Amino acid sequence: MKVIQIDKEKWADGLKKAADSYRLFGPVKGEEFHNFKELVKGESPDLAYLNSRLSAKSIIYPQSEVMFEYSLDESAEDHHIMKEVDKDYSQRAVIGIRPCDAKAFVLVNHNFDTPEYKDPYWIKACEATTLVGLACDAPCSSCFCTTAGCGPYHEEGLDVLLVEDADNYLAKILTEKGEKLINAAGWDTAADADAAARQIETGRQEAEAKITAFVDTDRLKAIDTNELYKAPFWEDVSFSCINCGTCTFACPTCWCFDIQDENRGKAGMRMRNWDSCMYPLFTVHGTGHNPRGTKLHRVRQRFMHKLKYYVDKYEVGIQCVGCGRCIRSCPVNIDIRRVCDLMNSYGSAKDTCAA
Ligand code: SF4
Ligand code: SF4
Repeated sequence: MKVIQIDKEKWADGLKKAADSYRLFGPVKGEEFHNFKELVKGESPDLAYLNSRLSAKSIIYPQSEVMFEYSLDESAEDHHIMKEVDKDYSQRAVIGIRPCDAKAFVLVNHNFDTPEYKDPYWIKACEATTLVGLACDAPCSSCFCTTAGCGPYHEEGLDVLLVEDADNYLAKILTEKGEKLINAAGWDTAADADAAARQIETGRQEAEAKITAFVDTDRLKAIDTNELYKAPFWEDVSFSCINCGTCTFACPTCWCFDIQDENRGKAGMRMRNWDSCMYPLFTVHGTGHNPRGTKLHRVRQRFMHKLKYYVDKYEVGIQCVGCGRCIRSCPVNIDIRRVCDLMNSYGSAKDTCAA
């Protein structure tokens, strides 16, 4: 294990140096909330934050992106039927991402980078990105990461894990990409390995002890899909939903998109834009038929996808890292922890629906 000790007084200078060869992104406070944005040279991320209102997913998977341009105008000088657009895949680093958001990229990767199907935009953006995580010493009351396959010091998906104390950051280097970024910043003071390991382990235990929300997921895989689909609790779970889509927009593990052509005369561009299974138009067929025509269908789809279909398909746990954003953002207080509990206990002695 290699750990570098970064004196906080050398932090800003290092970032400035790294900015010579990386585009840097980090959490910045807007009027009310922190969100991730690209940092201008000399700007430091504000690491005194709990978590960002939106996840960092748009850095790798933009909310809206051009796939290619097309033209059917044969009289145009630069006539082309289809033309790829240039995209910036130069190396970039996300400074201060929380471990849950980094793990979310690992979960989404199971969908976008498979043996049968490879999403070129996602893969190139992932390859270009170095994730410098910030261990989470003050989890929110709605965080349940430790029972969602993650944790406040979780390392999966990260290239570097930063652990903060009063005067320093300990930077635990996890990958070659991480080492390259640390070198580019010129941070080169090796920490005492044993003392650093003890400090990080103590921090991890203290942070995990602050997590007060949990989910049980142990029965999800074994429960019959059709039985869960037909469970009576979906009516109650979906009753107050207004299908605003906020939960999917804020979620770091939601990946659905729509493809649309922005046409002007005989030319235009093909775009892909985030979409949401919570919107009524999401599954409308060309015939006008909608197989998910009610909000019960749509709410059930969201939870069945995250907590059952994904579990069955990829065998890597639930499609959720327990960041709690959907809980904090839902205007009608629909809580994935409660829904997970209903699903996981369905048909068991603990099942309140069966009573
Ligand atoms: S945020 Fe809440 S109300 Fe809005 S779509 Fe999601 S579950 Fe429904
Ligand atoms: S489903 Fe909710 S708690 Fe889970 S990763 Fe998405 S926003 Fe976070």
